[in-house]
Amino acid sequence: MGVSNRVPLIAGNWKMNLDHLQSIAFVQKLAWTLKDANHDFAGAEVAVFPPFTDLRSVQTLISADKLDLVFGAQDVSQFESGAYTGEISGAFLKALDAKYVIIGHSERRTMHAESDEIVAAKSAAAIKHGLVPVICVGETADDLETHGPSAVPVAQLKAALAGISAPTDIVVAYEPVWAIGSGQAATPEQAEQVCAALRGVLAEALGQDVADATRILYGGSVKSGNIAGFMRQPNVDGALVGGASLDVAEFAAISRFQKHVGV
Ligand code: PEP
Repeated sequence: MGVSNRVPLIAGNWKMNLDHLQSIAFVQKLAWTLKDANHDFAGAEVAVFPPFTDLRSVQTLISADKLDLVFGAQDVSQFESGAYTGEISGAFLKALDAKYVIIGHSERRTMHAESDEIVAAKSAAAIKHGLVPVICVGETADDLETHGPSAVPVAQLKAALAGISAPTDIVVAYEPVWAIGSGQAATPEQAEQVCAALRGVLAEALGQDVADATRILYGGSVKSGNIAGFMRQPNVDGALVGGASLDVAEFAAISRFQKHVGV
């Protein structure tokens, strides 16, 4: 786990799963499960990333029941407002009290042709509206073979930071594309190698203090059975979890990694 006082973040990306009613039931159950287990939210933040149509319901529940869970969106528009059918602006997300927004997930980069420039513009838009961008980077299996482990994620992060100059709260998620949804996670050592390189990029672009304060997550087939190995790495400060975040017991067990990370 990180050497500084970075608070680990366990983030559940629900992708296009769970409608607003299902998400209410899920969040209630997750909150009860973590409360029953005396989860230390100050020691490990737990965030869910529901589809857009669920956000208002999740916000209302969290606020009415004063839950310690936080939430974010899975994407944001690079634009402010206007004739952009289907887009959601950062201002709208902020008005809903969203804390985070995922930007540049590999599924958006590949299926929605999101370029590094768009990722940079969206990251800047998120920051402008007071949201914390969770900037996703990661190499494909072909990239890994051709360019080695860190080249593509490093280049993607440099590009994503192009529009950010002042010190600001961001989160970086290293998600090797070959590990997402494949059941084949990176090894903790592979994750550490790339996360350390990404911290170097942060230091170069935004200064050592920002680099030291920024949380870098690993994502790709994280489960309760392998989270401990990742969280023992000095440059891994949490996890972005896809499939396993759709199972309350499993996601709660991942969130409670401190109970099963030997030090
Ligand atoms: C993801 O979608 O960001 C992800 C990491 O998925 P999974 O955990 O299912 O590999």
